[in-house]
Amino acid sequence: MTMVSSTQAPTLLWLRQCLRLSDNPALEAALNRGGPVIPIFIWNPEAEGEWAPGGATRWWLHQSLASLMADLTSVGSQLILRHGDAATVLSGLVAETGATAVLTDRRYEPSARRQGQAVQSHLHSLGVPVVPVGCNVLFEPGQVLNRAGEPYRVFSQFWKTIQREHQPSPPLPKPAKLAAPAQWPQSLPLAALKLEPTIDWAGGLRQTWQVGEAAGHRLLNQFCEQTMGTYQTTRNLPDRLGTSRMSPYLHFGEISPRQIWYAVAERLPLLSKEAKASAECYLREIAWREFAHQLLYFFPHTANRPLRPEFEAFPWKTDPEALSTWQQGKTGYPIVDAGMRELWQTGWMHNRVRMIVASFLVKDLLQPWQEGARWFWDTLVDADLANNTLGWQWTAGCGADAAPYFRVFNPVLQGEKFDPNGIYVRRWVPELASLTNAQIHRPWEIPPLTAHSLGVRLGNTYPSPMVDHFQARDAALAAFAEIKQSVAHT
Ligand code: FAD
Repeated sequence: MTMVSSTQAPTLLWLRQCLRLSDNPALEAALNRGGPVIPIFIWNPEAEGEWAPGGATRWWLHQSLASLMADLTSVGSQLILRHGDAATVLSGLVAETGATAVLTDRRYEPSARRQGQAVQSHLHSLGVPVVPVGCNVLFEPGQVLNRAGEPYRVFSQFWKTIQREHQPSPPLPKPAKLAAPAQWPQSLPLAALKLEPTIDWAGGLRQTWQVGEAAGHRLLNQFCEQTMGTYQTTRNLPDRLGTSRMSPYLHFGEISPRQIWYAVAERLPLLSKEAKASAECYLREIAWREFAHQLLYFFPHTANRPLRPEFEAFPWKTDPEALSTWQQGKTGYPIVDAGMRELWQTGWMHNRVRMIVASFLVKDLLQPWQEGARWFWDTLVDADLANNTLGWQWTAGCGADAAPYFRVFNPVLQGEKFDPNGIYVRRWVPELASLTNAQIHRPWEIPPLTAHSLGVRLGNTYPSPMVDHFQARDAALAAFAEIKQSVAHT
């Protein structure tokens, strides 16, 4: 236990994306220095350029900060909120408080890394060390490399190496108390950060989510007890709560990946063979997140450009109307529209459906994957540069370990396979609720009179398909053949 002396200089704890008290290695490192700890959050979207938090993540961040403020109060501390350039804010706080070091959670996105470096060099010139501490990944970039010392580009090999050679360290407990400074610096009120929308569109988000560290742990516990044992099957069924919904909590560091890892691992010995296989399948998904983070770290250009350079020449079409129809969930393909409307209402979309809607945008509509990534960025509460980039490049066939471009998802067959009873479509596209299971994923095949008697008029109550899937598929394959040919000629 560290003795706290009132004469010791305070430490600034700059919380960037680690908005929790338990298993917070940056906080632990700050406490280990011995003096008072001053937790700070700086709202500095300007530093994140085109990937500054979108509407849905700003909403989440507001709730997350409110929750962290209450949690800090319960351990005798406070959260100081500031807005502005991080280096300027932190050097101002050093001058105000006499702090002798800044401890912070390490971030991996290109702009966040640039921001971190700028802060480090500015404070270094003032004689104050800035120490970034890994908090939000199981393994730091560079820890899991292939035999040649390079980052993996194939997930299965990355995962095998983790299983063979690496074990995350156990999570840290929540501290009982944080030593307070003799005088707290001033803080902005949370509302001054203006994170919440001025026109309130967030009703669906409020109904869907409870935000914060405690809520994240409750949901994880519920998942481990009720769903994890069947995850291998239910993870593909969007009509039910078959996944953990940990993604926004992980993104904001309200829960750490190793807390999840250990919550699962400690239950493994108690599970049946099938349930154990499901739990291991879940850990594999957590490892996909690690893979995504190390890819973005080593290939920072991939947030905007394809990892496979031949895709730079892909003949995408730019069609704002088609993009907008997709965004609004009015494509005429029920599973696609259900997904886009779930996203708009709740800030989240099931992984299977993310793959379907993404494939529809990049293959059926030939729109650049970057446009889809941007829409997700603004509307997802779990918008995460590493995972979003991986997901879009995977779908477009231009990333590491990506789906081959020629594998084009058929939205009707995908709907029939993964939403066989139409429950998901009926929930999000209620104008099709009266259709039978056989009709619901292909409403254009219903004879007009029958459709009329069911209250469905295509092109009126529900749109006709905006493209013919089979023609669109041929066009996509022809576009792909073009870049294949150009690669063969170089
Ligand atoms: P679970 O199935 O319970 O998985 C647990 C955790 O594992 C997730 O929270 C996530 O952290 C990780 N994980 C699961 N699948 C993946 C994956 N394919 N890639 C990377 N990590 C994964 N995920 C985001 O967190 N943010 C995004 O912005 C994002 N954008 C995506 C865009 C597209 C086009 C696609 C296809 C996928 C995207 N994903 C993204 C990955 C995945 O869809 C979500 O992580 C998942 O749906 C979140 O729900 P969950 O927490 O219930 O997942």
